[in-house]
Amino acid sequence: MATDCDTVPIDEANIGRTLETATADPVRVAEILAKARILKGLDADDVATLMAVESPELLKEVFETAKWVKEEIYGRRLVLFAPLYVSNLCHNECLYCAFRKSNTEVKRRALNQEEIAAEVKILVEQGHKRVLLVAGESYPEEDGFNYILKAVKTIYDTKSGNGEIRRVNVNIAPLTIDEFAELKGANIGTYQLFQETYHRETYKKMHPSGRKSDYDWRISAFDRAMEVGIDDVGIGVLYGLADWRFETLAMMQHIRHLESRFGVGPHTISVPRLEPACGAPLAADPPAPMADVDFLKAVAILRLAVPYTGIIMSTRENPEVRRATFELGVSQISAGSRTNPGGYGEDEKFDTAQFQLGDHRPLDEVIRDITYLGFVPSFCTACYRLGRTGQDFMDLAKPGKIKDHCAVNALSTFREYLMDYASPATQVAGERRIAKALEEMTPERRRTAQMLLDEVKKGRRDVLV
Ligand code: SAM
Ligand code: SF4
Repeated sequence: MATDCDTVPIDEANIGRTLETATADPVRVAEILAKARILKGLDADDVATLMAVESPELLKEVFETAKWVKEEIYGRRLVLFAPLYVSNLCHNECLYCAFRKSNTEVKRRALNQEEIAAEVKILVEQGHKRVLLVAGESYPEEDGFNYILKAVKTIYDTKSGNGEIRRVNVNIAPLTIDEFAELKGANIGTYQLFQETYHRETYKKMHPSGRKSDYDWRISAFDRAMEVGIDDVGIGVLYGLADWRFETLAMMQHIRHLESRFGVGPHTISVPRLEPACGAPLAADPPAPMADVDFLKAVAILRLAVPYTGIIMSTRENPEVRRATFELGVSQISAGSRTNPGGYGEDEKFDTAQFQLGDHRPLDEVIRDITYLGFVPSFCTACYRLGRTGQDFMDLAKPGKIKDHCAVNALSTFREYLMDYASPATQVAGERRIAKALEEMTPERRRTAQMLLDEVKKGRRDVLV
């Protein structure tokens, strides 16, 4: 039984030794890439070796293998979501974040339930089916933590036309065991939390005060969440604070800890990189900047190391970098995002936003772009609603059976989007993409997909297998 103060052992000395001894010997790299194709993941030494790869020829092979693994497990699907910032109140002092307590350059705002519903309507009318609720670590006094529970309910209860949000993931500060139990009761999808940095000393410097200054409280959050049955958790590290190689190996240790304790690791990995933030000068001048090429390398290596864990790409990155990562292993993307509470009803405002975005394109434009690139946008939310989470999800994913569900649900939810929300140009591109995807399917899968697509055409919604 986890207690509120357990920790997760991150062996910094061991990571240091692994990194020091790692060299990109071409024979060893070839062995590791062959191992990656078995789809059973990689160990820390393998990851360190791949991170040491510098030569363009070898790097190309790493990328080719990551592309292969991505295709093999996820096909061409990309699942879409939007973040929903409900509040920027915060009692912490994270040096890189615009929401930090002492920042007077940011206007504070916590949306009330009517304002949250208004934001949800806008997202639904754009075509979104899943949102990631995001908040600073301080809730309006009158409600306390109940504010989050109410917000989740408001999101699920808000309808507009044919549409509704079908999955609410949350990215909020670590909770006590009892609070996690309440959050599970609110029927959330994934509980997402980034450790920011696994390097204790850096962590201490970056988080000088507030609840978040307790490293162990944060790193043990998933143990508490999983203990009460939240079995889809989303891990991540904020690249730019400490050496990216260290962070990646430490995150692998965290993942292996969860796997050995709960039999299943995180459902998703996020790879946020520091972006400039109003009133947080450190963000524009990262202590350990990560070059684009290393960022792509990290995504590719994570794809190989934990092949069945989804990788999420946010709109922090610009369209070019995002496109490159989609090929290398990303399976979920945000689009049309705002990081200021109330941002969907207003213009993008830097004086209430958490950080600057790299991709400002609206959802429809992103959908059209990824369709032209040969991806299939998916708004599927079937798994968690049909109970396929945690171990059950992995039991289907590992033998490749989950694809039977995902591939067809992606097409039916994409057609819903095309019929209900898309611009004429996106409709044409999308229907063409659906036809091509059908052609490439096995006859059995094509029959199921065609049946679902026909139902959607007749006007039925939310038809899932
Ligand atoms: N307040 C909660 C917390 O800190 O865990 C949850 C929400 S916080 C708004 C979401 C994430 O945004 C943080 O975990 C951090 O990784 C990321 N973030 C903060 N400042 C950022 C910046 N300047 N650039 C990119 N990401 C940033
Ligand atoms: Fe607050 Fe989260 Fe920003 Fe830190 S990262 S200041 S906890 S909102």
